[in-house]
Amino acid sequence: MDDTEKLCGAKTPSGAPCPSTPEPGRRRCRLHGGAPGLGAPKDNQNAFRHGYFSQCEKAQRRGENAQWKKLQKTIAERRKQPR
Ligand SMILES: [Zn+2]
Repeated sequence: MDDTEKLCGAKTPSGAPCPSTPEPGRRRCRLHGGAPGLGAPKDNQNAFRHGYFSQCEKAQRRGENAQWKKLQKTIAERRKQPR
């Protein structure tokens, strides 16, 4: 863990990163959006469009990509073998 993780780090008007410590469980201090009760609650679906970028879809794509890569590898190896 490096020190940048322990600081709020929000850009201040002077251009320097905010040196305050973030609220527990948050990435920003209470002045910069880390105050409890701010922000969307977990599982909020207000901005949900199609789910292409949802964690579930991403995980599925990763699995499919891995299978596809394996298949391509197998094909490439078979092509190398003379018949
Ligand atoms: Zn801050």
